[in-house]
Amino acid sequence: MKYRSTRGQVSGQGFESVVLEGLAGDGGLYIPEQLPALPDGWQEAWAGLSFAELATEIMALFVGDDLTRAEVAELAARSYSTFDTREVTPLVPLGGDGTYVLELFHGPTFAFKDVALQFLGNLFEFFLQRRGAGHRLTVVGATSGDTGSAAIYGLRGKAGVSVFILHPRGRVSPIQEAQMTTVLDANVHNVAIDGTFDDCQDIVKQLFGRPDFKRRHALGAINSINWARILAQITYYFYAYFALVRRGIAAPRPVFVVPSGNFGDVLAGHYARALGLPVARLAIATNANDILDRFLRSGSYAKNADAGVLATPSPAMDILVSSNFERYLWYLARDHEVPPAVADPAERARAASATVAQWMDRLRTHGSFAVSPAALAAARRDFWSGRCSDDQTYAAIAKYHAARPPYLLDPHTAVGVHVAEALRPEIAALGGPAVQTVCLSTAHPAKFAEAVLKATAAAAAAAPGAQPLDFESILPPALVGLLGKPRRCAECANSADAVAQLIEQQAADH
Ligand SMILES: *Cc1c(COP(=O)(O)O)cnc(C)c1O
Repeated sequence: MKYRSTRGQVSGQGFESVVLEGLAGDGGLYIPEQLPALPDGWQEAWAGLSFAELATEIMALFVGDDLTRAEVAELAARSYSTFDTREVTPLVPLGGDGTYVLELFHGPTFAFKDVALQFLGNLFEFFLQRRGAGHRLTVVGATSGDTGSAAIYGLRGKAGVSVFILHPRGRVSPIQEAQMTTVLDANVHNVAIDGTFDDCQDIVKQLFGRPDFKRRHALGAINSINWARILAQITYYFYAYFALVRRGIAAPRPVFVVPSGNFGDVLAGHYARALGLPVARLAIATNANDILDRFLRSGSYAKNADAGVLATPSPAMDILVSSNFERYLWYLARDHEVPPAVADPAERARAASATVAQWMDRLRTHGSFAVSPAALAAARRDFWSGRCSDDQTYAAIAKYHAARPPYLLDPHTAVGVHVAEALRPEIAALGGPAVQTVCLSTAHPAKFAEAVLKATAAAAAAAPGAQPLDFESILPPALVGLLGKPRRCAECANSADAVAQLIEQQAADH
């Protein structure tokens, strides 16, 4: 199994270097040079597997010779043993009409990013230890909340890895701040920056842009473009399929509705389908930051440059562009932009990369690019989409909280559930009992308590007798008492030099 960059200047890379490198040297994203085939009879052979066993089967197809099957199995077992339910990602009925929620938030930080980052942390440690003494990695990342805490819990205590997570001081939710700063492992460094999330991201970019500094500290990234994160997320699409089978649905063809920001989660669904998982449709659900929804309506991928990133109740999906979309665009270009006359597969791959590089260039210089009508038609066959306003987000939370039996949605999941409701006619038109709607649930409601309490309080005020929720009642046991625990966090000026100095200092102390 070899990997190439979407921009075409790098190819023939093995799994290990792709994981440790993250972004390709030409600025592109790594994709497999060829998709592996599922083994014959996988539907029967995999039906009774645990989550970690299923992850092992799928990951083993993508690691080439860089890991043995036993090593993959050990890493997967360890990564998913930290989840608070044996099922890891349970499938739960919602509203009793053939709609389900796939709960991806049972990891240590109660958000779906744990599924990928618990695995990535173990993978980093394994590769660094195998490379031998002196091989270290300094992970530097910026967060508005979710990525940072999932990265910290994925990397805490890992040999050979130091992690520096920058967050905007006073601008992440209290739970998220507590989750990050109460991790006291020596290799974890929280840095509160006197600035905004964009400032934090900017500092990280500047540090990666200093070749000497980058080499000296072996800087590594854990942002959502790392291939291992996509790979780890493929598992739960298969797991949901088998969970439907266990619920007595013969030969299910699920519609997956995915709350989307950087397009990593739904891209994993696209790979699951490309491997051969029966999927009726993948639906992209966005909040007001709707670049993906607008693309599928118009064929133009256009930054909302005037307004910038809009703040919504689902902050983990507040993006200007979706970084992982570039991977899908590569396939779109290869299959629908490169002329059919180009027959040689290697030639088609080169031409696809050239097209992607042009598109990305145009996005950088003009803020947008457009695909051909044929490519747009293909994208619409691959994905449905919908957008959910802030009011619709609150309304969906209130509606399912009041339903019998009640279900408490977090605001990100609520965006997906709203879009699933809007797509009901289309889903019904697919027809048949095999078609079931699965909404991916990306966070526990307690993580975004403010939005959840606001939505349910408004509903309670409108319905006499109804009890509003309070914060304590929605906290999972693991989060009770978190706010009072000891913390460690460095404060730092809003400058790349100041952060670089902090990293130098820590490195000297080790
Ligand atoms: C990161 C995140 C998302 C968006 O996932 P993408 O892979 O970026 O599309 C949605 N919900 C929550 C809670 C998240 O943390």
